[in-house]
Amino acid sequence: MKDQFALKKVLIVGLGGLGSPVAMYLATAGIGHLVLIDFDQVNLSNLQRQIIHSTVGQYKVNSAQNKLQKLNPNIQITIYNQHIDELFLQTLIAEVDVVVDCSDNFTTRFIINSVCVHNDIPLVSGAALRWSGQVAVFLPKHSPCYRCLYDDSEEQMETCSESGVIAPLVGVIGSVQAIEVIKVLVNIGKSLSGKLLLFDAYKNNWRCVKLPKDPDCPVCSSNR
Ligand SMILES: [Zn+2]
Repeated sequence: MKDQFALKKVLIVGLGGLGSPVAMYLATAGIGHLVLIDFDQVNLSNLQRQIIHSTVGQYKVNSAQNKLQKLNPNIQITIYNQHIDELFLQTLIAEVDVVVDCSDNFTTRFIINSVCVHNDIPLVSGAALRWSGQVAVFLPKHSPCYRCLYDDSEEQMETCSESGVIAPLVGVIGSVQAIEVIKVLVNIGKSLSGKLLLFDAYKNNWRCVKLPKDPDCPVCSSNR
């Protein structure tokens, strides 16, 4: 499995609470090439949940790269200190094996989903807010896409920085995302493809629900 990982390239969008454990576990697993995208700088209120960072004021991609290179000096890490847009993502997606969405807003999630669907790239998506987290895997042509699940009206979603999140929850959800990335990369186990895993940390309740395809989805309905 180790040799297989060395040839893989994974793109991680967002180096916050979810991106921290995702990037750290994929680096220590020996994924050969990690591509990191984030526009933000580390601030004091991030440190309790964004465990890849320890220095306030640094750009998150620089801070993450430093940490990851210490964890595993044998992997390649490429960083982009900027916001995501469709054109930019399109230029990065070639030769990427999996995209991991660790962003915190619907606009970015819709862009990532659309580019993944149209380039046939698997997407592992995670979200966490207050006490609730979720993970889904979207395999183009084999499962519904993120847009089948949410529509444009969801745009005004709250974010962790606005509404808060119980810090260890992002560790749990990010770790599940890393597990699903590894399974997709080596095609083992039972994928979350076509399903949504929901964790209510307050009640300690896990649920897994089947996701229906939206036959009129503006993103994936023409891609089948
Ligand atoms: Zn869709």
